[in-house]
Amino acid sequence: MDCVFCSICRGQEDALILDETDKTLAFAPLDHISEGHMLVIPKEHYESLLDIPEPTLCTVMKHVRTISRRLCSSDFDGVTC
Ligand SMILES: [Zn+2]
Repeated sequence: MDCVFCSICRGQEDALILDETDKTLAFAPLDHISEGHMLVIPKEHYESLLDIPEPTLCTVMKHVRTISRRLCSSDFDGVTC
């Protein structure tokens, strides 16, 4: 399987790792498109958002909220998902 997200989770692809849980990873891509651009992904591979089981999706979104709160408590004035 050739998945860049799984490679990042395994440490085989460069990315700026910002935070992680046992099931999710938050990172900034090296070719970010804006300041604060980051991604939160499940560590387990899924082909698309539609394939992620609801409990896992909830775990990802909780991590997104945690990261968003950190950003909003610093210099960022909002987040988009
Ligand atoms: Zn993957």
